[in-house]
Amino acid sequence: MRIVLFGPPGVGKGTQAELLANHFHLVKFSMGDLLRQEVAVSSSIGRRVESYLKQGNLVPDDIIVELVYNFLLENRERDILFDGFPRNLNQAHSLEQNLAQLGQKIDFALELYIADEEIIKRLQNRLYCSSCGRIYNCLTDPPKKKGICDVCGQELIKRDDDEEPVIRRRLDVYNSQTRLLTEYYKELNVYKRIDASGSKEQIFKRICEILDGYIDKE
Ligand code: AMP
Repeated sequence: MRIVLFGPPGVGKGTQAELLANHFHLVKFSMGDLLRQEVAVSSSIGRRVESYLKQGNLVPDDIIVELVYNFLLENRERDILFDGFPRNLNQAHSLEQNLAQLGQKIDFALELYIADEEIIKRLQNRLYCSSCGRIYNCLTDPPKKKGICDVCGQELIKRDDDEEPVIRRRLDVYNSQTRLLTEYYKELNVYKRIDASGSKEQIFKRICEILDGYIDKE
C-alpha cells in the first residue's frame, strides 16, 4: 500500500501523517522533516537546500527525487505514507516511474483542504518539538505546559518559514504547482478529497473512513 498525502501548508498533513502511520503501521516519509534535518546538521544537501526552505520555495527536483529513490529502495517491502511529496507534476511522474520499476503503484492520493485564511491563522499559531517532531497549535491544541513538549519534555519552537510573508509564498507555490496533482491523481483513479476543517480527531476519522477496509491494521 502506497499513499500520498498532500494539501496546502498548515492544513494538518504532518499531524495526520503521524496519526495514520501509527494507526495503520505505515512507514512515514516526510520530505519537509527530512530536509529540515539535513539543514539542522548542515550536511552538504542541507547547505544546498536551506535558502529554498527559508523563502518558501520548492527545493530543485533532482535533489528531491534522489532522496526519495534511496528511501524507496530501503523500504520496498513496507507500506508507505508520503507526506509532502510529490509537490509538482514532475515529482509525481518520477514517483510513478520509480514505483513501477519495483512493481508498485500509488493506491490513494489524499488531498486535505481548507480556506487560505484559516491556513494563515493555523500556521501563525503552530509550534513543534525540536526533538520528537510533535506538532502543536497554541489555540486549538496547546501543550500542557507552555513551550514544552508533552511527549518528550523538550523545548517547542516555531518554524522559520511560519511567518506571514513566507506562508503567503508557500501558498502561492501550492496553488501554482502542487494543486495540479489533483487532476493527475483523478486520472489515475486514486484521488480522494478530505475536508480538513475541525479538530484533528474529526479529520483523522474522515480519512479512516476512506482507508478502513483497504489496509490491514495488524
Ligand atoms: P513542509 O514541511 O512539507 O511544509 O515543507 C517545508 C519546505 O520544504 C517546503 O516549503 C519546501 O521548501 C521544502 N519541501 C518539502 N517537500 C518538498 C518537495 N517534495 N519538493 C520540493 N521542496 C520540498
